[in-house]
Amino acid sequence: MTTVANTVVELNQVTKEYPGGVAALRGVDLRIERGELLAVVGPSGSGKSTLLHIVGTLDRPTAGTVAIAGHDVATLTDRRLSALRARHIGFVFQSFHLVSGITAQDNVAEGLLYSGLTRTERRKRAATALERVGLGDRMHHRPHELSGGQRQRVAIARAVVGEPDLLLADEPTGALDSASGDAVMQLLHDLNADGATIAVITHDSEIAGALPRQVRIRDGQIVQDTLKDAHANAYADTQPLEQAGGEEPCHATD
Ligand code: ADP
Repeated sequence: MTTVANTVVELNQVTKEYPGGVAALRGVDLRIERGELLAVVGPSGSGKSTLLHIVGTLDRPTAGTVAIAGHDVATLTDRRLSALRARHIGFVFQSFHLVSGITAQDNVAEGLLYSGLTRTERRKRAATALERVGLGDRMHHRPHELSGGQRQRVAIARAVVGEPDLLLADEPTGALDSASGDAVMQLLHDLNADGATIAVITHDSEIAGALPRQVRIRDGQIVQDTLKDAHANAYADTQPLEQAGGEEPCHATD
């Protein structure tokens, strides 16, 4: 299965209702293109985790459509959805979720478990990924022998070792001191500069503000998307030029 689609995520009118009638998402449209680095930002209870679960294909919407790398998730069985997730999406969590008792290298190699590669090849690629995140000298350390910032970098290496179409980072700096948090955000910027598509889920406006695109969510709805704002402004900027051509402004009636 090869993917050439430039749209990595496309949500159309996505609604998610939990049993008991809580509408955690209400008519969400979201499009993420290859190579983007964006923040999904909102206060607690706004629907960020629910959105993460839907975009990460860990949950299905109540209504609306979700396409990941061109695949409509509604048409896939749970088994094929798991395969799609393993192949296309990498996850980073606030609390790292590393396997204790095994080395950083083996933790990263776990990110290739469903790749069909041999164990030797998985470990080789894991070593390269650890070097990429600046932990080439910590390969044989176990999680408890690493600092929080180092653990998160191992988790990031695990998430990107399979070169997923999308990296979903859920409050990636939430458990870190500010210096380690800054280093993790810098790493995400560097990975993005190398081509990775990354969505950071955060409640922190300062973290969100440092990323090129911010999608603000509140009460289950997107209330601001700076990319759409930029497009709207670019469109507005073209209007005087068109009108300068001597024609009457066009007043559309529909
Ligand atoms: P956030 O991640 O922004 O804190 P969530 O997506 O976790 O927001 O929650 C959005 C809303 O959905 C909240 O009102 C929350 O209480 C509700 N909710 C989340 N998960 C469930 C669930 N499994 N069952 C019922 N309601 C839920």
